[in-house]
Amino acid sequence: LQPSPAERSLQTRVLSGGGAFIIILLVSVILGDWIVAGNAARRMLQDRLASTAQAASQSVPFFLETGQNLVTQMAADPRMLSGSGAALSAVLGDQMHTLPYFDELFLLDSNGKLLAAYPSRATASLSLTQQESLGISLADQGVVAQTYTVPPAQGGTTAGVSFMASVLDANSKTQRILLGHSQLADNPLIQPLILNLRAVASYGGDGKLIDEQGRVLFSLNPDELMSTYTGQTGQAPMFYDAPAPGGTRNLVYYQPVVGRSWAVILTVPAEQAQQLALDIASPLAIMVLILAVIALISLRFSLRFVTSSLENLASEAGRIAQGQLDHPLPVEGVDEVGQVRRAFEQMRISLHARLEELNQLLLVSQGVASSLEMEGAVQPILEAVLASGASAVRVALMPSGQPQEDAPLRFALGPARDAYAFMDETILGLAQKQPSLVFNNLSRGHSLDIPDDQPRPAALAAVALYHENRYYGVLWAAFSQPHQFAEDEMRFLSTLAGQAALAAANARLYRTAEVGRQRLGAILASTPDPVLVTDQENRLILTNPAAKRALGGLAGAQGQPTERVISQQELRDLLKELESGNKSAEVVMPDGKVYFATASSVIANGRPVGRVCVMRDVTHFKELDALKSDFVSSVSHDLRSPLTLMRGYATMLEMVGVLNEQQKGYVGKIVVGVESMSRMVTNLLDLGRIDAGVGLQVEKTLIMDIVKAVMDPLQLIADQKEIELVQSAEPGLPESIEADRALLQQALFNLVENAIKYTPAHGSVALRIKVRPQGLQFEVQDSGIGIAPVDLPRLFEKFFRGSQREARAQRGSGLGLAIVRSIAEQHGGKVWVESVLGQGSTFFLLIPIRSSDASKKKTKLV
Ligand code: ADP
Repeated sequence: LQPSPAERSLQTRVLSGGGAFIIILLVSVILGDWIVAGNAARRMLQDRLASTAQAASQSVPFFLETGQNLVTQMAADPRMLSGSGAALSAVLGDQMHTLPYFDELFLLDSNGKLLAAYPSRATASLSLTQQESLGISLADQGVVAQTYTVPPAQGGTTAGVSFMASVLDANSKTQRILLGHSQLADNPLIQPLILNLRAVASYGGDGKLIDEQGRVLFSLNPDELMSTYTGQTGQAPMFYDAPAPGGTRNLVYYQPVVGRSWAVILTVPAEQAQQLALDIASPLAIMVLILAVIALISLRFSLRFVTSSLENLASEAGRIAQGQLDHPLPVEGVDEVGQVRRAFEQMRISLHARLEELNQLLLVSQGVASSLEMEGAVQPILEAVLASGASAVRVALMPSGQPQEDAPLRFALGPARDAYAFMDETILGLAQKQPSLVFNNLSRGHSLDIPDDQPRPAALAAVALYHENRYYGVLWAAFSQPHQFAEDEMRFLSTLAGQAALAAANARLYRTAEVGRQRLGAILASTPDPVLVTDQENRLILTNPAAKRALGGLAGAQGQPTERVISQQELRDLLKELESGNKSAEVVMPDGKVYFATASSVIANGRPVGRVCVMRDVTHFKELDALKSDFVSSVSHDLRSPLTLMRGYATMLEMVGVLNEQQKGYVGKIVVGVESMSRMVTNLLDLGRIDAGVGLQVEKTLIMDIVKAVMDPLQLIADQKEIELVQSAEPGLPESIEADRALLQQALFNLVENAIKYTPAHGSVALRIKVRPQGLQFEVQDSGIGIAPVDLPRLFEKFFRGSQREARAQRGSGLGLAIVRSIAEQHGGKVWVESVLGQGSTFFLLIPIRSSDASKKKTKLV
């Protein structure tokens, strides 16, 4: 969509709006002018016609009166009564010449017979009209004077008037009749009327005189002569519009003649009025037109001035918008446009200044962001302050108070930077109490206690460096001339000070972190135990020298996946499981060393981000353990035959002689002691055998057989202690399991026996068998004494016995659970316990259902 020209240009819009308004105004003025002029023209024409018609009509009564009087006078002449023939004609001629009024005079007898006529040529022309003939008979009856209109004479252009008077005898009897004809065209008395009517011709109109019967006596159009007038007639003057032949209109003025029923009618074509109106209206219309044109032209020019100024401003503004702020605007004139220009120029200048400020700030923040050392960050800050015209800019920092801190504390720039260095301490002290100091003219007072032998700046501004409520130092600028610090300038200085404070805080933080890191690094490096750290992608991110020594070949392993750089499967497994908690495993190194490795998740923000593994060299303990086991098994082996011998001879004592009761009691105690010792020896030998994995016989074994073999003998002991012994199996349990029947039976036996042993009378013991994805799970739950939390980690160790008094009260060797663990591990399974002191314990024994390769599994899970 393109914008319309009016939308694009202010000038077009105003011109089209203003132009339309001017044209409407113009048209209405011209229309009004035309209407007013039309009315005026009509009124003028009416006035003119009225005066013409009045003037014309005024001559008619006089004309008729005169004619009547004259003919009556003539008729009174005695000669009229007596004379005849030529003498009479002479009398008529005589009479006619006394006043030039009549064209023809006739003397008729009372029967209408012509007696004489003057001039003589008229004799032949006399032909009485119908009215005249009627008039003669009327005269005979005594009507003395009569007037009639007559048609024009031969070749005449106007009608005539016939005046009739009776010639009376002494008895006032009509003897003769005098008839005088006067053609209107020839009669001097009616000439004013004719002249007036002819004057109408100058308007292109027509003038008529009609008699009482409506016959046209005079008309500028000769054809209408003696025709009957068809238009409107009346008693009063009238002015009206009448249709004219040819479809046009006429204006008609009707003026009745005073005292007679004649009338003067003036007709003018309507276009005359229009012409007149045009004559009146056109000067004004032309003037209005000229004025309108002048108005449009001046509007256009004044608009052009404004729009060109605006265009100019728009292009300047466009330049400012594009960021070209170096181009000054010409500032001229004090009118509105001039004011806008001035405002634009001020805007440009302040924008330019603000932009400069922003650029400097950007440089400063880049410096602060890119450098963790104060030297790098403070340089752009000093430069930015120096650009304001200072002769020296200094940043003085408070000492951090940390012993190893050897970072510089003073930074300065500018020609007088060293000259004012002595003021640092004073200003540092002042700024700590007051966030900003401003001295516009220092020479006036002694506000800063400057010694007389030291240089004195003329003006000074300082802003304290605070970050997170900690005072780091001060940024201050000195001027060699008095300087008025504007609000803007102080704001900028404060912003820079904020950046300097940030830089100082960053630098201090970085140093502290760096020192801490170095310290940690040193600790880690000097730790004798190998330490490995992985990230969440299981890549090795940290190894200490001990780890490198222990694992060997870790050079360049940083950042590599553990799978690739660590060859010990146990260690890899430990590091892999990100989610699980602490886990430990024994790791055997190629050189034979054994490490006890413990790995745990590194938690950051509640999420595991890797694992840390610490390894302990337990080779020495392993060797000791092996030595101990060897010693114990060889001793137990060697003890076996003497014990059998002792038991044999002790039981045989009764057979060789009668023993008294006391002797019998001693022998019984010897037998019990020997049996206990041989049980222990058997256990020890079993344990040694199981640990060594010798003679493990894995075969398909029916689960319920084992359970029965365990529960039946123990039921008796339980009954003795009145302990409820129950067993349950989950539905869907497999019938058989691949295991060493004797060992599994022994493991279960030990667990259930313990449960009964460590449960007081009237308690309960339950054996439950469940199926788990990893294998078959036996749970032995009791309501007994429970196990103290401190004992839990060592419970499955050889010879370990519980620390509680109730536990110690029971006989035992501390080998039962060690055997269970050994059996579980030989089957690739595991054993663990959950217990609440005083409430009871649950022992879990998990055996894989298919444990064909169980004997090969050597990893010991704790
Ligand atoms: P012994 O029973 O011969 O002392 P064990 O190896 O069977 O040796 O058990 C080791 C120790 O574990 C016991 O001394 C006892 O403190 C504790 N213990 C074993 N089973 C239970 C149990 N069901 N309830 C409470 N403590 C038990």
